Amino acid sequence: MFILSEDTERTRGQDAQSSNITAGKAVSEAVRTTLGPRGMDKMLVSDAGDVVITNDGATILGEMDIEHPAAQMIVEVAETQEDEVGDGTTTAAVLSGQLLAKAESLLDDDVHPTTIVEGYNEAAVLAREAVEELVLDADDLDDDRLRAVARTSMTGKGTGDVNADALAETVVDAVRQVESDDGVAREEIAVRTQTGAASSATELVEGVISEEERVREDMPTGVEDASIAVLDVEFDIRESSVDAEYDVTNIDQLNAALDAEESQFKQYAEKLADLDVDVAFVTESIEDRAAAYLAEEGILAFESVGDDEAKSITQVTGASRVGAIDDLESDDLGNAESVSVESYGDDDLAFVEGGAAAESVTVFARGSTDHVTDELERALNDGLDVVTAALDAGGVVPGGGASEIAIADHIRGRAASIEGRRQLAVEAFADAIDVLPRTLAENTGMDPIDALVDLRSRHDSEGRAGIISEGQTGQVTDPVEAGVFDPAAVKYEALESATEAATMIVRIDDVISADN
Ligand code: ADP
Ligand code: MG
Repeated sequence: MFILSEDTERTRGQDAQSSNITAGKAVSEAVRTTLGPRGMDKMLVSDAGDVVITNDGATILGEMDIEHPAAQMIVEVAETQEDEVGDGTTTAAVLSGQLLAKAESLLDDDVHPTTIVEGYNEAAVLAREAVEELVLDADDLDDDRLRAVARTSMTGKGTGDVNADALAETVVDAVRQVESDDGVAREEIAVRTQTGAASSATELVEGVISEEERVREDMPTGVEDASIAVLDVEFDIRESSVDAEYDVTNIDQLNAALDAEESQFKQYAEKLADLDVDVAFVTESIEDRAAAYLAEEGILAFESVGDDEAKSITQVTGASRVGAIDDLESDDLGNAESVSVESYGDDDLAFVEGGAAAESVTVFARGSTDHVTDELERALNDGLDVVTAALDAGGVVPGGGASEIAIADHIRGRAASIEGRRQLAVEAFADAIDVLPRTLAENTGMDPIDALVDLRSRHDSEGRAGIISEGQTGQVTDPVEAGVFDPAAVKYEALESATEAATMIVRIDDVISADN
């Protein structure tokens, strides 16, 4: 009896498992070479020919056109990692792949999938315990430590070693600006990129940067102690309030009509001037003659300001958005220490700094080309995320694979007391974790087996050891002394999401796909 349509494809049992596992492993293998500071970049070319050059796991997997549903689950692991903590995406994807590889050998040895799932879940709990033990000063993170965390997350991301320190400092300064007793207001930190300078010119702006251009050249380029209006008003009469058709039969009538418009524009500008408005951010268009009157009043005006920008300007300056000039009152105006317009090649940017209402900062990232600024933007966002995670989500742990060695060691130590075949799965989990230090060693050009042996013995004798890359080489040493740290949250999240994805894939023994 057929209960499925003829077009349905069905794979069962070991075939389904091995197809899923192979697909999952393939995805994680694709990002493995990018792990760590000496990881390589990938160049991704879309159908349309757009090119992205990146070292970022989530970006790579996001750009790849992955169809296999099990492979797609590994992509989701990376996405979850990116959403939850903003870093550790490659780590999570590589770990998922290795958990699958180890599960495959267990399945070959006739360990039941359910046993593997139980063992993995048990090991994940032990791993979490181990991370908790590894946390260094969660409550008392100083700026030096935070800079080191930021630097660790940014190295190898096209930032250049020379700049890493300056960028890390900018990142920590930005986070400190928006930190309060309630935690870090991460959403108050924007990153804006602009080509035309080296990345060493990246700086922190205490305010927001708007992309809009000044409406007229004869408007001021800078205002101190600026009174700011944010207007959802069309400075153009025919298309807005007076939707009249002029029935013009002679030249006098035409002139009268034009005069009426002129005087309306003039009134707009005078109204703003009366309220001492220095700067107007207008979300709609401004007609040329209206702009001329505004310029005459010495008002700096921007037109077609994007909705998001208008929102952030109101937030930082305390202005309220007003939909009609007649409704504008002095209460609606915001204030900033300065508004200035600066030219960058063909682009003008408006800097609104020292807003009266809220702390909001922008990391103004510079780079020579779009590819550089794009990767720099990703690196800065990683840096901002890890510093936020370190402060708000449980401190930092030693990086460079040192934590992984300790986690694997802890799990192996407990495995002996676990009954039956589950023990094999728990041990397999510990072996899977080794892939991370091993890959760091490989990507640094070290012999992975020697490095792992060396790591374990140093871990046993000194209590802590990682693969630390410096310049072109790597060595086994103490990451704390080398200043290499990751947020604890990155490890918790990677362990959890990789375990979830791997166990979910292992549990599947029947794939029924509708033909399409
Ligand atoms: P992910 O996407 O997982 O964050 P990364 O390419 O950013 O991948 O690599 C992160 C790993 O690199 C972490 O385990 C981190 O501890 C390690 N790492 C960062 N800087 C160094 C360094 N200088 N030496 C050794 N390991 C480092
Ligand atoms: Mg990273």
